[in-house]
Amino acid sequence: MFSLKGKTAIITGANTGLGQAMCVALSKAGANIVGVARREMDDTEKLVKQNGTEFYPVIADLGTTEPIERIIKDAVNRFGRIDILVNNAGIIRREDAIDYSENDWDDVVNINLKTLYFLSQAAAKQFVKQKSGGKIINIASMLSYQGGIRVPAYTASKHAVMGATKAMANEWAKYNINVNAIAPGYMATNNTEQLRNDTKRYNEILERIPAGRWGEPSDIGGTVVFLASSAADYIHGFTIAVDGGWLSR
Ligand code: NAD
Repeated sequence: MFSLKGKTAIITGANTGLGQAMCVALSKAGANIVGVARREMDDTEKLVKQNGTEFYPVIADLGTTEPIERIIKDAVNRFGRIDILVNNAGIIRREDAIDYSENDWDDVVNINLKTLYFLSQAAAKQFVKQKSGGKIINIASMLSYQGGIRVPAYTASKHAVMGATKAMANEWAKYNINVNAIAPGYMATNNTEQLRNDTKRYNEILERIPAGRWGEPSDIGGTVVFLASSAADYIHGFTIAVDGGWLSR
């Protein structure tokens, strides 16, 4: 039920953090991986190959929609088809809301939301062409539910990721395409480095997590495999929080 043997999965932001961990988890379940990032992904490639599946790197800057067509085309040329898309690449820029710049707003929203949407659309078109159905998994956030502090563009984009996930799911379910999302809690990656370096904020957050620890990238591996597998065929438009209980407090 959870096997991904013979499937092809595209994962954006595959070089580090959650993206790398999801590449490893999906390959462990049997999927071949198309990793997308701005720079080489040698570490991820090594980890995937240790699991006995293939890794194909596509270098692309997702700050614009320009590389989208090439990403799908390269993936199909390499593996003959695609089955899974994980929209993981994302950025955060911190500044007081009163001073937040238009440039930071555009950069954050373009990658976190606009590229996520149009890459999903391109994958969906390929799934329809293949008549295969497919799985799209978007990476949301605790700030898909809460407002946050000094991250207005990030919060707006991650709220929108949840909304777009539902909108896409509604229209594409009829093609056997499942669009869902994962909302990670506070995980130890580059994305949270500034927060973790602020001892006061780090401990405030830690105290509020029922699980009693920050998350590790590997903590979302099981959920991405589940949503990418046939076990999730009847799940549409839902966001699963993997947050150590943060939202339940
Ligand atoms: P990260 O900074 O290590 O990863 C971000 C990834 O996005 C990197 O692989 C980076 O190369 C890629 N990326 C950024 N800009 C890009 C661009 N222009 N083109 C191509 N790739 C680009 O941090 P992470 O925590 O692994 O973040 C992954 C996702 O998880 C993001 O969407 C983030 O918002 C989300 N998230 C993280 C946390 C957390 O606590 N770490 C919590 C909730 C959500």
